Amino acid sequence: MSDPLIAAVRTIPDFPEPGVLFKDITPVLDDPALFQEAIERLATPFTAAEVTHIVGIESRGFWFGPTMAARLRAGFVPARKPGKLPFTTLREEYALEYGTDAIEIHADALGTGDRVLIHDDVIATGGTAAATARLVQQTGAEVVGFSFFVELAFLEGREHLPEGVLVRSVLRVE
Ligand code: AMP
Repeated sequence: MSDPLIAAVRTIPDFPEPGVLFKDITPVLDDPALFQEAIERLATPFTAAEVTHIVGIESRGFWFGPTMAARLRAGFVPARKPGKLPFTTLREEYALEYGTDAIEIHADALGTGDRVLIHDDVIATGGTAAATARLVQQTGAEVVGFSFFVELAFLEGREHLPEGVLVRSVLRVE
């Protein structure tokens, strides 16, 4: 029997550029029952992990991230593209296919003793999530897990994440 949550994720070919099969999760947000189910499946693997903060990756990590944080009784910290955060920031650069990009968080958002779950809607090559983990580590906080809604497993993105940290995704695309 098909899983309604998985069935709601749609694949848009050639978006935002030719050759990309874009995973669109907006139909999950649109449906109250599916949205609730998604939050439960995202959060449940981490209920015993004593998470103090969820770091959501711009911009689609902001869709589920704050609601997951409320469910886990944790805070929410946005990781954003350069120039978007108003206060003093920490920055981590990462390689793209051509060139580099960077991600930032507020310098006072996290610190030693904090236990962080990193979340994004999709993990592809893992470069963004790995850079976000380094950013969290700059603050002295500990990365205790990664949570994704969709994992493009054939790209082996999880190989770029720190060893020994729990990685969970609701939907794995092999
Ligand atoms: P990554 O290659 O894992 O660093 O992914 C870069 C960013 O692009 C992440 O925020 C992903 O959520 C997003 N992304 C990459 N590939 C896809 C895809 N096929 N569908 C939807 N989002 C994607």
